[in-house]
Amino acid sequence: MIGGVRGRYAPSPTGALHLGNLRTALLAWLVARHVGGAFILRIEDLDLPRVRPGAAAGILADLRWLGLDWDEGPDIGGLYGPYTQSARQDLYRAALARLRAEGQLYPCYCTRAELARIASAPQAGEDGPRYPGTCRTLTKRQRHQYEAQGRRPALRFRAPSPPLSFTDALAGPQRESVAERCGDFVVLRSDGIVSYQLAVVVDDALMGVTQVVRGADLLSSTARQLALFDALGYQRPTEYAHVPLLLDDSGVRMAKRDASAGLATLRAQGMTPAQVLGILASSCGLWPPGEPVSLTDLLADFDIKRVRSQ
Ligand code: GLU
Repeated sequence: MIGGVRGRYAPSPTGALHLGNLRTALLAWLVARHVGGAFILRIEDLDLPRVRPGAAAGILADLRWLGLDWDEGPDIGGLYGPYTQSARQDLYRAALARLRAEGQLYPCYCTRAELARIASAPQAGEDGPRYPGTCRTLTKRQRHQYEAQGRRPALRFRAPSPPLSFTDALAGPQRESVAERCGDFVVLRSDGIVSYQLAVVVDDALMGVTQVVRGADLLSSTARQLALFDALGYQRPTEYAHVPLLLDDSGVRMAKRDASAGLATLRAQGMTPAQVLGILASSCGLWPPGEPVSLTDLLADFDIKRVRSQ
């Protein structure tokens, strides 16, 4: 087992980081560093069609400019690399093979149109509809028929029914039955791309991550990830903190395509790292508004529980 506190920031290189992403990175860094833990940078580029050339390099440059350093990452390597998901395919395939050998996966031939029909059902939840298990009990013959029609299957993981519990440092105690909430979920897409849920679990486990700090939009993914940690016999991370998403002036969640929301604009205005850190820290209640701040000052009495939404 890998020892000590290990935090990580795991951005997808789909564009420049906006201030919301940078604030999440800052909080992830503070959670690891204020107890002397290691910090890992991992680039999550599995969804290749959405990856933008040069975005990963820009992300590294922005984090470095702010002073958020890392001990292991795509540029410097480390014992548990590679630190770019597209270079870790063998590890994901090995995990899939293990789950498959244990009978925990099954091929799903549902088409987009079929899934969309389920999604439009009135009981569909905010995190997408619960998969009703259409392909769970297909016979060999039915599978052959689908294959003969040229349908390429996705692989679904059989979701456990007993509720899984964890405590989020900000959202508090959580309890969810994955079977009831989402049903069996996709771990390998029909286009051959490994799902986010599977990749993140394999990576967090094999990189020995103990502190998971990320955007609040991923709180609803955590139970599915815990189910995979358990099924693969991995130790679960010790702490989860799902931090508030930063909203733009009109109250809408920021998107990476809003180039103006990135660091480049602030740097062009002549802002220093301490001024930007002040903006990020004050936007979540860690520092008085309008004052620059250093990382050392933020580390001094840091407590993730003091983080507030705007
Ligand atoms: N790659 C994800 C993102 O950029 C974060 C995944 C995670 O932290 O688990 O939103």
